[in-house]
Amino acid sequence: MPASASFFRRAAAALVQWVDSDYCPDGAEKMRAEPDRVDWVRVMPFVFLHAGCLGVIWVGASAFAVWAAVALYFIRMFAVTGVHHRYFSHKTYSTSRFGQFLLAVFAGTTVQRGSLWWAYHHRHHHQHSDDPEDAHSPHVHGFWWSHIGWITSRRNFPTDYSKIKDLAKYPELVWLNRFDLVVPVLFAAALFGLGSLLAGYAPGLGTNGWQLLVWGFFISTTALFHGTGCINSMAHLMGRRRFQTSDDSRNSAILAAITLGEGWHNNHHRYQSSTRNGFYWWEIDPTYYGLKLLSWTGLIWGLKPVPRSILEEGAHADHHASVMAARRAASLHPEISYSSLKKVVPAAAALAVATATAAQASLPEKKEGPALHKDVTELAHELQTKAPPKPPVI
Ligand SMILES: [Zn+2]
Ligand SMILES: [Zn+2]
Repeated sequence: MPASASFFRRAAAALVQWVDSDYCPDGAEKMRAEPDRVDWVRVMPFVFLHAGCLGVIWVGASAFAVWAAVALYFIRMFAVTGVHHRYFSHKTYSTSRFGQFLLAVFAGTTVQRGSLWWAYHHRHHHQHSDDPEDAHSPHVHGFWWSHIGWITSRRNFPTDYSKIKDLAKYPELVWLNRFDLVVPVLFAAALFGLGSLLAGYAPGLGTNGWQLLVWGFFISTTALFHGTGCINSMAHLMGRRRFQTSDDSRNSAILAAITLGEGWHNNHHRYQSSTRNGFYWWEIDPTYYGLKLLSWTGLIWGLKPVPRSILEEGAHADHHASVMAARRAASLHPEISYSSLKKVVPAAAALAVATATAAQASLPEKKEGPALHKDVTELAHELQTKAPPKPPVI
């Protein structure tokens, strides 16, 4: 086939994929096997999302519209972290089939494609963190590719349903994933409608349909994308490593603040199955607090705790790091008494263990079911902590 015919065929397919994400005339397997390359036709809606922010030149600003953008950023960041990530990717809590559908619609407003696409790529990230197979490792592909480039690559568009069979068995979830533009378009239309209503019924707010569309949808969603993207790019570069995982994941309070708790990324790479990413009380994890609140409504249940052995492992690692830091400080500043530090640091570590254990005590002890995406260290941990089966009584 001539090169120009091939280009037009691909461009036509990309246009159809704007509406139907699963449309792959040459097969999804072939697409995934291609080298990384930006698909400019396919990413036009994403470019349009960013370009839409420029609409602020014409619509101006009002306090209501700006606060709506901020509120929608955090509400939908909760959907990214609490739904795309901690439910669909890791199943760290349970819900009903209808509850799951509601969560998927909520997560659809984040405009980060479907929950199944999100979960498939995220599980793949955990399996191949920072190795050449990882689609968004800053160490392998560089900062910008891990932050934004990878989602524009043609090979990363299809969802491999065979790798997420626990989710793909629900046709309603597959439908939302396939037609992933439906929820964002309805959400944008709702914002435009709300702004138009407010212009008529509450003119004192100084907003209107176009203004709320630009602030609440385009600006808020673009910021939400880059906030989320920071975990893919920055959370493997910036911060502290408590656990010596096989990747370069890190814990960062700054990233946790902008992502409602996802910044405790090294904790998460050490143990993926817990609902909380902030393992200790001082690691602020608003997503976990929100999910805890949601569990009181009965919509979700079975939030999984961090095992005590992991908490103790973390406390020991912190203690060791503190002692090493004290030794370095003592060698640089001999006027600081090393013996006094030796007394303080273990006491701080003991306090850490005690408070973490107390925090866990409020969580219900729940038997964990098998997770489909666990890494080898998690499985080894479970085998160690499980009691041997009792012999059958004859
Ligand atoms: Zn994860
Ligand atoms: Zn990671």
